[in-house]
Amino acid sequence: MKAAALALALIFASSCGVIGSLRPGPTIAPLISAAFLSVHLFIGDQGDAQERARIPELRDAIAAALPDAWATATAGRGQLSLRTDGDIDVELDGTNGTSALTQHSSGGRVTSRRIAVHTIDGSRRLTVPELMATVLHELGHIWCCFGPGTKDGHWADTPADFSSVGLMYSPMTCRVSKGSDPVCPTVFSERELAEMRLSGL
Ligand SMILES: [Zn+2]
Repeated sequence: MKAAALALALIFASSCGVIGSLRPGPTIAPLISAAFLSVHLFIGDQGDAQERARIPELRDAIAAALPDAWATATAGRGQLSLRTDGDIDVELDGTNGTSALTQHSSGGRVTSRRIAVHTIDGSRRLTVPELMATVLHELGHIWCCFGPGTKDGHWADTPADFSSVGLMYSPMTCRVSKGSDPVCPTVFSERELAEMRLSGL
């Protein structure tokens, strides 16, 4: 890591691109609910030997942690289950790339959704905390974020410092201490929860 000389440094989880059809605007209500979300998490068949050796463990770690991570991220207002026939496909792709949610619409209705999470960013093999934050971020894009204060699906006012609250920035900021795993954002902010229709009322 290039900032290894520092006891504390900021790193950026892989930033997020927009691929495929346009994001649905707020006029197109997502048909799936952040309160009861099901996810099909699986492994792609790409990647070098090192990544292909690593990726089943990554998949298992993320699968084990994702339901609780979603509950935490949504302040207890959302539930997530893993299912083969889920609301959305999430593929762990063992190649370098920009993770993204791709949605296709027809007649104003979203007909398919898919998230590709790349496990390599540049030359870095991403850690579970970074991948978890990326998965949460991409899932957040199903609903977030549109309108004033946003740009390309992200909040325009990206903070300079690390915060555990607020997952919909690009890039996301994680904090790393020498010798330990990065600490990444884990909780959606209230304005994000509002976009996800999970405001505490
Ligand atoms: Zn994004």
